[in-house]
Amino acid sequence: MAAANEDEGDIAAGSERPPLIVSACLVGLRTRLDGRARSFPQVLTLASRYCLIPVCPEQLGGSPTPRPPAEIRQGAGEDVWDGRARVVTAEGDDLTEAYLRGAMEVLGVARLSGATAAVLKARSPSCGVGTTYDGTFSHRLRPGSGVTAALLAREGLELLTEENCGALSACSDPGDGQGSG
Ligand code: SF4
Repeated sequence: MAAANEDEGDIAAGSERPPLIVSACLVGLRTRLDGRARSFPQVLTLASRYCLIPVCPEQLGGSPTPRPPAEIRQGAGEDVWDGRARVVTAEGDDLTEAYLRGAMEVLGVARLSGATAAVLKARSPSCGVGTTYDGTFSHRLRPGSGVTAALLAREGLELLTEENCGALSACSDPGDGQGSG
């Protein structure tokens, strides 16, 4: 086992468990839109094999908690990075810059920790992997990831959600997808 201070540039140095980025709302932190805590046992159990690094890109981008829901209009996270879509609230407030800022902060954490994989909250406009709400605030889904997930995917991280994290460790019981950012 390496000494904890062997590499000061790697905050996970010294751990026998590889670093794993996780959406903070999956592990009981009060980052959800409604400010309430909820944890997902299938994610918590990963702590036996991984050094979990909880992040909330919306909080890191400067959004308050609680906060109003937002969705990606006219695209998904990939389109936001390419300038073709925006993140807006139902009232029309444009939160795109905050979402981009938060995603960059999460990427910074991933690089600092050396994480090569992340378990992110399904369907969130920030954290959703492969599917997000379609921007109409009507619970309809569309293909494409959230803003943070799209960035991490472009940077080569392996992405899973609470619904398929069994690829990392045995798990079941998918969550409801409600109340997260
Ligand atoms: S899903 Fe929302 S509340 Fe959960 S970590 Fe991502 S941005 Fe934060």
